[in-house]
Amino acid sequence: MTSNQDWKARSLAHVWHPCTQMQDHAGGDDAPIPLLPIASAEGAWLQDFDGRRYLDVIGSWWTSIFGHRHPHVVARLKAQLDSLDHVMLGGFTHAPAVELAEKLCALTPPGLNRVFYACDGSSAVEIALKMSVHYWRNCGNPNKTQFITLENGYHGETLGAMAVDGVDAYRSDYATLLMEAIFVPSPDCYDRTPGTSWEDHSRRQFKHMEAALAQHADTTAAVILEPLIQGAAGMRMYHPVYLKLLREACDRHHVHLILDEIAVGFGRTGRMFAADWVDPVQNAGGDDTRPFSCDFMCLSKGLTNGTLPLSCVLTTDAVYDAFYDDHASHKAFLHSHTYSGNPLACTAALATLELFEQDDWMARNRRTAALMWEGMSPLLQHPNVAEIRAQGMILAVEMVAKSRPRTPYPSSERRGLRAYRHALSAGKNAGVLLRPLGDVIYLMPPYIVTPEEVTLMCQTAIDSINHATTA
Ligand code: PMP
Repeated sequence: MTSNQDWKARSLAHVWHPCTQMQDHAGGDDAPIPLLPIASAEGAWLQDFDGRRYLDVIGSWWTSIFGHRHPHVVARLKAQLDSLDHVMLGGFTHAPAVELAEKLCALTPPGLNRVFYACDGSSAVEIALKMSVHYWRNCGNPNKTQFITLENGYHGETLGAMAVDGVDAYRSDYATLLMEAIFVPSPDCYDRTPGTSWEDHSRRQFKHMEAALAQHADTTAAVILEPLIQGAAGMRMYHPVYLKLLREACDRHHVHLILDEIAVGFGRTGRMFAADWVDPVQNAGGDDTRPFSCDFMCLSKGLTNGTLPLSCVLTTDAVYDAFYDDHASHKAFLHSHTYSGNPLACTAALATLELFEQDDWMARNRRTAALMWEGMSPLLQHPNVAEIRAQGMILAVEMVAKSRPRTPYPSSERRGLRAYRHALSAGKNAGVLLRPLGDVIYLMPPYIVTPEEVTLMCQTAIDSINHATTA
């Protein structure tokens, strides 16, 4: 029982796969989404049970930043297994949790001094939302319980996180279960009028946020958003000026700012965090400026290089202090997850951060990103490509039925999946994993990709887009 066929049959008999209409896996290799059993992984490559290899251009849902089974992460994990596998973080602490918290506080924007661990991105979002509301309650503002968020945003699949998701496909079936959030039009620059700069468009779109804050500040705990890139919406991008204006407005209106850096943290945008692109902001009421920061930052995905599930929320001393009181005050944050701060997961994260110290990855990524842009530029004049956009190590191509005026394909045509299947079967012994977001084909490779791998991924992406857009 070792072939692809065997594993597929066994998987389909019992495993319910995430984010999948399971019928899409029916029909073997001709299925709309063929199920791929993976036997092993190394670097940027996955290998199936029949020996076929796939270049993992999306880093397995954006987690693998230094490639699969990086030797340094593997070695650190093996050593950690020899001393401590797990101990609960309630009432206990351990070296990996402490060292990782110290490192994260030093790396993230100023003021983020406290780290709360969880296991996945959605849980980190839940924690930030709960902490913010609880903070205001502890400070005598129990009416601040709402959240403002962006249309097209994505923050996860648990009920609290879903309530602030602006992508309807994920939330509409559960709408009756969700708290009501306030949605504001996005600064997404895909929607800018021709000739308008990204900065001008994002700046203009801020009026919607300003209006929402002015109207709802008394009842709003926090604004939550994905900084610079709305990933699940199709890698839609906007200008950092929006975050700067938002920080100033949140300060003026006494509302927290939650940055969901789960997808974009750890170098993906070209700086360590997307927040690092934002210019200093003006203090509320004063002429003074200070470095941009937020009240809560959610991290996960690349944090462990895709090795083990781990997430965390960083926050400020001001937030921490509002919970710090006598037991009898009932002000403590009683949220807990069993595997919160698991020593193995923290070790994988420490090893990942050590890799950042071993090379100038941002400089290397700038070179790789330039190669990606050059490799994809033949599509700039393609009649079925509305836009190629890029930020750091993310490049996205928006396929449309017509580029002037922009007319999307009917979603029932599933053009993105056509490109996906074509790329998987591209070479004789090797394909490319280009899982689309609707009709957006994107490249989000691990930072270790070689120039030859960039060429392969770009050529395959172009062939696949040509294939998918041919009637
Ligand atoms: N926030 C963002 C920005 C994400 O991209 C994701 C996952 N795609 C999440 C939150 C949720 O993370 P998880 O799937 O680990 O719960």
